[in-house]
Amino acid sequence: MSNTERTFIAVKPDGVQRGIFPEVLRRFSQKGFKLVAIKLTYAKEELLKEHYADLTSKPFFPSLLSYMTSGPVLATVWEGKDVVKQGRALLGATNPLQSAPGTIRGDFALDMGRNIIHGSDSVENANKEIALWFKKEELVDYKAEMYGWIYE
Ligand code: GDP
Ligand code: MG
Repeated sequence: MSNTERTFIAVKPDGVQRGIFPEVLRRFSQKGFKLVAIKLTYAKEELLKEHYADLTSKPFFPSLLSYMTSGPVLATVWEGKDVVKQGRALLGATNPLQSAPGTIRGDFALDMGRNIIHGSDSVENANKEIALWFKKEELVDYKAEMYGWIYE
């Protein structure tokens, strides 16, 4: 299993405004994942239509768009073993009411339309989303000094 798998994790506007973003960074970092890119940014509607391409016909799509453009988003990229699947586990279920305590949504959210965080759901989508949100030069190359203590 590759240690260089990458995922796209974004703290949504409510997670930024409520000050939950440090908790997200702490959880991914302490699990052993390496932060590769980070920026606070407003998501444009065109970007969101690509990002959520599979959801544009859903009845909740207009409210999802206004939610995601209601404030800045903290966009991040993380790298490490099985990070896409492990990242989804750290997030919890889409519906916070079905997210176990101990997960980010389970600990900090109640409504689907205010579920504070996004995480890629497959390696393929992760690569698509990373390319959508970040320029190549924004992905920072460095040696993670912790790796000797994380990987066997
Ligand atoms: P995710 O991958 O767990 O974020 O879930 P999806 O890709 O299915 O949906 C994207 C986002 O749209 C979710 O995180 C929610 O914020 C929102 N969403 C999904 N389903 C619903 C729904 O039934 N109602 C509302 N209000 N929002 C939804
Ligand atoms: Mg999704």
